[in-house]
Amino acid sequence: MNVVILLGGPGSGKGTIAGRLVAADPTLRHVSSGDLLRDAVKRQTAAGVEADGYMKRGELVPDAIIARMIADLMAGIAGPCTLLLDGFPRTVAQAGILDGTIAGCGASLAAVVLLEVADEILVDRIAGRRACPGCGAGYHVTNIPPRVAGRCDACGSALTVRKDDNPETVKHRLAVYQAQTVPLIEFYEARGALRRVPGIGPIDEIAERVRRALS
Ligand code: ADP
Ligand code: ZN
Repeated sequence: MNVVILLGGPGSGKGTIAGRLVAADPTLRHVSSGDLLRDAVKRQTAAGVEADGYMKRGELVPDAIIARMIADLMAGIAGPCTLLLDGFPRTVAQAGILDGTIAGCGASLAAVVLLEVADEILVDRIAGRRACPGCGAGYHVTNIPPRVAGRCDACGSALTVRKDDNPETVKHRLAVYQAQTVPLIEFYEARGALRRVPGIGPIDEIAERVRRALS
């Protein structure tokens, strides 16, 4: 198993780009830590109940919770594939845990892709972000509009705004990103694993840049 880490601020497009890459290459598998956690909250698992409050406030959930979910998921994967890790690791401590998980299952870290997007653009993107509660598809009111306003193209569900996508919480999430996740850039750069990709422009172009960064 190969592991590719997608790094970037909230709203930088990690999930959207991962979706494009997976659609074109079925050997890739997208793993979103935020989706795993939201699903755990919805199912009210012990981890979900603990994570809920942190997520609503725009804070990171404790490292151990998310690290365990990722380790369990990786342990359950048999056969060759490339994991696109979106949203994990998000702290230097999580990166250390991930090193152990990767070694433990005989996987290897292929690359770390940093989607670079200015803060003003992130705020704007999150303000227009809509999500499908039915199938998880992501939209943006102007950048990625659904064919019928407010309805998911794939499953027809009514689109919703994520609980943590309100302006106050977004500001906090950006601060948390700066304080806790940005140090990871240097951490992976020092290992020679970091590939910087401009995260603005048409989605297909960004996806192509990421493909090139990985080849
Ligand atoms: P975004 O990238 O837009 O911030 P995510 O869906 O990746 O959104 O994450 C939503 C929330 O889930 C985060 O604000 C945080 O509370 C929690 N979360 C996701 N990944 C992690 C992680 N690796 N460590 C701690 N908390 C996480
Ligand atoms: Zn849907």
